[in-house]
Amino acid sequence: MGSSSDDEGEEYLFKIVIIGDSAVGKSNLLSRYARNEFNMHSKATIGVEFQTQSLEIDGKEVKAQIWDTAGQERFRAVTSAYYRGAFGALVVYDISRRSTFESIPRWLDELKTHSDTTVAKMLVGNKCDLENIRDVSVEEGKTLAESEGLFFMETSALDSTNVIKAFEIVIREIYNNVS
Ligand code: GDP
Ligand code: MG
Repeated sequence: MGSSSDDEGEEYLFKIVIIGDSAVGKSNLLSRYARNEFNMHSKATIGVEFQTQSLEIDGKEVKAQIWDTAGQERFRAVTSAYYRGAFGALVVYDISRRSTFESIPRWLDELKTHSDTTVAKMLVGNKCDLENIRDVSVEEGKTLAESEGLFFMETSALDSTNVIKAFEIVIREIYNNVS
């Protein structure tokens, strides 16, 4: 990870991981961001390790290599290789399922255990389109994020609310940390 130079100037490549309980919408957040796709019946992803998305910051090309679990989180078996070299993380819960919010401290611990550098972290309350069955208030999300020093955003991979924003805030923060 980091920067390299060639004829076209500086390039940056940052690894970002998406973590959180099973079925909170991690894979759909990534497919929404990287391909503008959503899948109502998505099964635990097999095979795809990461997707890359580029953006320009300060006239420089910044590539985010965003990693998605292959469903291992169901078995609490996300490996250290998954976290290795990550400069950013989206830590995701489902606003309609309280247990997924209660798991967040465990995910933050795991992230801390496996990272050897400053990691830009965004707490993501996904499925904010499900307002009618909301189980975690916006305030609770904000409060947890503030106490842990995380950015916070509610998103919907279904209707696209804040998805680009959530990823780009993390990517910009990493860029600011390293440049
Ligand atoms: P993962 O296990 O965390 O990767 O979760 P998935 O991305 O596979 O999503 C699990 C289920 O939640 C799927 O049925 C998705 O269609 C659904 N889902 C994901 N994101 C959203 C969202 O923003 N809103 C709603 N209503 N459903 C979502
Ligand atoms: Mg998945």
